[in-house]
Amino acid sequence: MDEERRGGQVLYSVRMRAAQGGPHERGGRHVSGAERIVTEERLHRTVRALLERARRHARGDPDFVQVTVERVPAGAVARIAALPVVTLGTGAPDEARRVARALLEAAGVAPVAAREAVALLAAGPGPAGTAMRGAVLMDAATGERLEPDRGRGVRVTRVDYDPAARRRLEAALRRRGLRGEAVRRAREALALASKAAWVGALAELGWSDDPGYTTGYVAAPAIGYVRLPGIKEAGDCRGGRVLFLAAGETVRVDGGLAGLIGRLEEAPVLIAAVGRVGPAVPPEEFLEGLRVGDA
Ligand code: AMP
Repeated sequence: MDEERRGGQVLYSVRMRAAQGGPHERGGRHVSGAERIVTEERLHRTVRALLERARRHARGDPDFVQVTVERVPAGAVARIAALPVVTLGTGAPDEARRVARALLEAAGVAPVAAREAVALLAAGPGPAGTAMRGAVLMDAATGERLEPDRGRGVRVTRVDYDPAARRRLEAALRRRGLRGEAVRRAREALALASKAAWVGALAELGWSDDPGYTTGYVAAPAIGYVRLPGIKEAGDCRGGRVLFLAAGETVRVDGGLAGLIGRLEEAPVLIAAVGRVGPAVPPEEFLEGLRVGDA
């Protein structure tokens, strides 16, 4: 029996990426990607589910799908808590984007960087307005882009929920009125944002490039995971993610930017605790609460 099995639990990281027109690294257009960390017992059905998901994505019919399975020593997996979740009553892109900027500023992002990030996602952050496979890394003070590859970005990978936390989160999201696809999207985005916060991102802005999914978010340790319905018009294929870094600090600690990218992409993380999932709140009321909290 090897080292990993002796500990009782063997875990597998399962990653999927799909593209149209060949693999991503040969110019294929990104269609979808997903991350799981599961026990051996769940491995087969997870691989099958991710393959099926790649093949029925709204962004197109992929001709390249890669599913990667890696064993990870259970002892190497960090167990973390998810950020608390709240939904604001935003309805139209202009309003939701204005609120997103205000939230980012409340989390410590400079106004110039918050503006730049919203404009970047609105235009499509990849080359010539395309979708990226990963996230933009942005200097929270200046708005300067820091990711080494602007087509690929940085992918937050090797993150998932343990089954009990996943069930609790899904039940809590349903109690707040989310259904079907919206539950999956919120769950997955919350996992990425919670890992990014744990690794050390100051804040994050995201909305989907899926033309049918129009709820975006701002997340930060200081404010939680804040859902922003209607941040883009239905039918719009532009979207992405921006992770804000306190860049001055980042380059001085733990291997600098390369070390941080390595942890975002490689450190295996299981979300073992779920925070509060609050009711919908009017945006101004939530922002006012942050200002009071600051005082
Ligand atoms: P989605 O929310 O899945 O529609 O993804 C929207 C955008 O977020 C994608 O086009 C990517 O730019 C980015 N993205 C998706 N998955 C990840 C990830 N695991 N890590 C970083 N960025 C991601």
